[in-house]
Amino acid sequence: MPLELVTVPCLEDNYAFLVHDADSGETAVIDVPEAGPIKDALAARGWTLSHVLLTHHHWDHVDGLPDLLADHPAKVIGAAADAHRLPPLDLAVAEGDSFTVGSDRFEVLNVSGHTVGHIAFHAPASKLVFTADSLMALGCGRLFEGTPAQMLDSMTKLAALPGDTTVCSGHEYTTTNAKFAATVDPENAALISRTQDIADKRAAGMPTVPSKLQLELDTNPFLRASDPAIARTLDMTGATPLDVFTEVRARRDRF
Ligand SMILES: [Zn+2]
Repeated sequence: MPLELVTVPCLEDNYAFLVHDADSGETAVIDVPEAGPIKDALAARGWTLSHVLLTHHHWDHVDGLPDLLADHPAKVIGAAADAHRLPPLDLAVAEGDSFTVGSDRFEVLNVSGHTVGHIAFHAPASKLVFTADSLMALGCGRLFEGTPAQMLDSMTKLAALPGDTTVCSGHEYTTTNAKFAATVDPENAALISRTQDIADKRAAGMPTVPSKLQLELDTNPFLRASDPAIARTLDMTGATPLDVFTEVRARRDRF
């Protein structure tokens, strides 16, 4: 049985996620922007928290942890590279490590760029990947600590996962991301159609996260740095994917 996934809106525009294994009863939360909505989501389903998975050190992904642990003692897992600036970890992990929630194996990927030490969690059996502020719906995280080359490496790693993987990212930024994507990839029919779908969802008060990886591959400019159409729009025909990616990220910062 695949893990059951619940999206939990937190703060202004953050998302936390719960995954639940019905057989064992184990339940993990991925990131803790604030405790209240996560406690409510657990209580509504009668679930007991067993694991906390942290993607990176930013306050809007960890600040609710002490309050959550006070009610739900659970095993806290995060990046060994960031152990000095994360809350206390029970398990410190690095790329190549794996652990289980119920019967599902979670594999750790280093997806540095937004921060150096940012990790993603991939659960292949349930076809889920938790990317937080690395790969986002129609976007990628701002480069606060890493270089464009690091983020492009992270994008390339995530792009290699199966296309039917569900991408659980950390923020509802998709409307702005869509407006920006249209400026660098204006003739992409899949992007135009997704942009309408995003507008419809937001008008109905629905989240645009999570999304399918194949849709990101078809529409997300940060996964499409090798696409000649984007290079042409930027007047960069023949430039390397890294140069195109760097320019797209710089334009998004100014957008
Ligand atoms: Zn962040």
